Amino acid sequence: LGYTIHSWSKWFAVTGSVGKTTTVSLLGKLYKYVVGNNGIPTCSLPNNILYGEPIVAEVSSAQLMINKAFKPHICAILNIIPNHLDFHASLEEYTNVKLSIVQHQDENDYVLLPYDSLWGQDLKCKSQKIFIGGKLETGQNCVYIEKNNVYLRLNNTAKVIFTINKTHLQGQHNVRNILVAGTIAYLDYKSKLQIETMIETFYPLEHRLEIFRIHQGIRYINDSKATTGYSTIAALESLQDSSCILIMGGKTKGANPY
Ligand code: ADP
Repeated sequence: LGYTIHSWSKWFAVTGSVGKTTTVSLLGKLYKYVVGNNGIPTCSLPNNILYGEPIVAEVSSAQLMINKAFKPHICAILNIIPNHLDFHASLEEYTNVKLSIVQHQDENDYVLLPYDSLWGQDLKCKSQKIFIGGKLETGQNCVYIEKNNVYLRLNNTAKVIFTINKTHLQGQHNVRNILVAGTIAYLDYKSKLQIETMIETFYPLEHRLEIFRIHQGIRYINDSKATTGYSTIAALESLQDSSCILIMGGKTKGANPY
């Protein structure tokens, strides 16, 4: 419903199993309208948003299931891991729902995909694919890091689009989130300085690898939004250089083995 009212806006949409809130919240440093779990409900957006004004949206698989017209100018599918399989019939069905985000895009639109995903390589769409996180030898569009400089290779021309000088986020998984947010901002003509300021001024959100206390040299980290084994593993990998006591529990939501 919210999309129907605001379909003339320029939509930047982020979906995937994990990392959506972090990625759209990064973009919230640059954009006024961020909708989704942590932002404004889409239906509560003001009516007088200007034609073409950007709206950044966190998009869930449940929303995509009822999507009959959603056409984001730029979308990102961060990752697809076994999740919500107590709701979806199979991983294949869940994957197809996530991939349906591109179905109304055209040649002037972009889709950002993980560089190491087979489903990303196989995806058939009209929009321009950009693979995030590594340099592809195949000449495809991609975003990769060399010595903290982030390069975008688009139509066989590579250039530095921003540099990761400093970030308060931990872990390689968050580097991916930063690459996605930074690339979206770059494609929307934000400057290198604006993108770097977005990254440097962003602090981890509550419950997402959040350091909530340091007491007698011990860091207490709240990562209770890690509701998949995948996120817990990403968290533990980011803490490899310190000894760690993990307190965890929860449901697998149909994911096997985790
Ligand atoms: P979502 O909105 O998709 O649930 P969040 O940004 O709220 O994602 O993060 C949920 C959990 O996943 C947190 O524990 C966070 O540390 C972890 N996480 C964030 N980004 C990623 C990622 N790209 N890969 C793996 N785990 C991630």
